Amino acid sequence: MKISQLFTKTSKTAPADEIAKNAQLLIRAGYVYKVMAGVYAYTPLGLRVLENIKQIVREEMNAIGGQELIMTSLQKKETWEGTGRWDDETVDVWFKTKLKDDTDLGLAWSHEEAILEMMQQFVKSYKDLPTSVYQFQTKLRNELRAKSGIMRGREFVMKDLYSLHTTQEDMDRYYDKVIEAYKRCYERFGLGDSTFVTFASGGSFTKFSHEFQTICDAGEDILYVNDDRTIAVNEEVLDDATAELGVDKNQLTAVKSAEVGNIFKFGTEKSEKMNMFFTDSDGIKKPIFLASYGIGITRVMGVIVEKYADDKGLIWPESIAPAKVCLVRIGGDEAITDADTLYQELTDKGIEVLYDDRDERPGAKFADAELMGIPYRVTVSDRLRENGQYEYTVRATGVTEILTRDELIAKLN
Ligand code: ATP
Ligand code: MG
Repeated sequence: MKISQLFTKTSKTAPADEIAKNAQLLIRAGYVYKVMAGVYAYTPLGLRVLENIKQIVREEMNAIGGQELIMTSLQKKETWEGTGRWDDETVDVWFKTKLKDDTDLGLAWSHEEAILEMMQQFVKSYKDLPTSVYQFQTKLRNELRAKSGIMRGREFVMKDLYSLHTTQEDMDRYYDKVIEAYKRCYERFGLGDSTFVTFASGGSFTKFSHEFQTICDAGEDILYVNDDRTIAVNEEVLDDATAELGVDKNQLTAVKSAEVGNIFKFGTEKSEKMNMFFTDSDGIKKPIFLASYGIGITRVMGVIVEKYADDKGLIWPESIAPAKVCLVRIGGDEAITDADTLYQELTDKGIEVLYDDRDERPGAKFADAELMGIPYRVTVSDRLRENGQYEYTVRATGVTEILTRDELIAKLN
């Protein structure tokens, strides 16, 4: 990828109404475009990051047998009426619309009922179970406040997985497997050390749920954690949850955090409401055990920005960076030829390179490389090139080394 060919440009300023650090930096560095409050488009660099996050989640969901599909943004009113969730008092984030003949439609704020309604058409017998399906889809929510940048969008990408089982035990077993898969996801995003599985409220179908909360100053939630960090409870259920866990709430410390995932066991309550039954091996009709599992893909991207960025700009963990290397070319014709060759060589090796091939001042190029947050910067300059050397800088630490070409290739391989 050559910077000269990217249609986005870096900028020294963000829109005046943008107060969230994550969105300010992502806009300035050319990763997102703000359409309006809480609504962001992802430009080529930003899309790469999103796709990298999705790919990690996809690999982990496939590894536990999830089948990927994609549902629709337009939904039927009847789909939600059965569970009482068409009602605007019960679900206060609905965007709704109408067909020309006045038929009510919902714009997907969630796909829980929609996916389950579809599954009901296929799952009839114990032989069809267990099964699990997932998707990456845009959710539309009429959020009251949208001041956290991409961490709280009115349009955002979620990964949602649903599992269907014949028994409570089978659901419990799978639920634990999902927890482990989620932990691997957050680990791979570079959020492993700061993300906790917490006790949270369960919503309308279950008393408690589990949330994945990442400690983050820009988060909107408050988490209570113990000293050795084996217990984490959401503020909203603190009394109930500490009673359930048998811990003294005064021993827990409050920290700010962001909900990056939420998983629920519905048991059979929801399937009974939605009329989802299967015929068991004994010939008896029984309600299906259900669980659902979400990860806020775009919120994860925002949290990573908030946690890693410094005063110079973004810093991406290698696992989700839009490129591994930012190749900066400084100097005349020989430097150009050398940098072009290096770009080709690295690209051929499968190393993703963002090549700053613009005729800009060195200072501006370095500042952009820092703002864009690519993990490693390689500089080709006339002065070093004469000695067959390159400058190699780690974005996160600022540590610079002067390397020969062979040393450089070895480092980046
Ligand atoms: P919140 O309490 O933050 O409003 P929620 O509990 O309503 O979130 P869920 O329905 O549990 O959200 O959605 C699953 C995941 O999707 C959340 O854990 C979060 O990571 C993400 N998410 C929810 N709302 C948003 C939003 N408006 N913008 C970006 N991500 C979101
Ligand atoms: Mg939630």
